[in-house]
Amino acid sequence: MSEKLAAGNLSPEQNLEEVESLLRDHHLKVTKPRLKILQYLMSHHNHPTAATIFAAISGQEPTYRATVYNTLNKLVDEGIVVEIKNGDDSLHYDFMVEPHFHIICKQCGKIADVYYPDFATIEKKMQLEAEKQTGFVTSTSHLEIFGICSDCQEKNKKNKSN
Ligand code: ZN
Ligand code: MN
Repeated sequence: MSEKLAAGNLSPEQNLEEVESLLRDHHLKVTKPRLKILQYLMSHHNHPTAATIFAAISGQEPTYRATVYNTLNKLVDEGIVVEIKNGDDSLHYDFMVEPHFHIICKQCGKIADVYYPDFATIEKKMQLEAEKQTGFVTSTSHLEIFGICSDCQEKNKKNKSN
């Protein structure tokens, strides 16, 4: 089985250690905004927007909005956090405790997690194939599938029959 960073089951101290070592692995300085944002994303898997994250962590202590946005961008660049566009005008963020991909409703913007056996291996293979075909050096990847969610399908059916 894949080894899980089961952040939800960790004490705040363990969680902090986890985040610090994650940052060190990526040669990133341990800063308060990085810690706060990663701790938040490790315990919230509902794909929050930057505004939601900002509201949550600036409640604990004053934080600049720009700092939160810049920090998120940095974490996305490093491949630690995934950025998801779902068609509304905000970006959503996810820390992948376990490898998964996303399915997005084109109608209401709902983002759902999809787990697939060996997804991490398959994704790695796709990156290697991309490198072979293009000569790129790959860094991060993120698979999104688009469709219409079951709630919207129901709504559409009702609207049609009215
Ligand atoms: Zn929908
Ligand atoms: Mn997700």
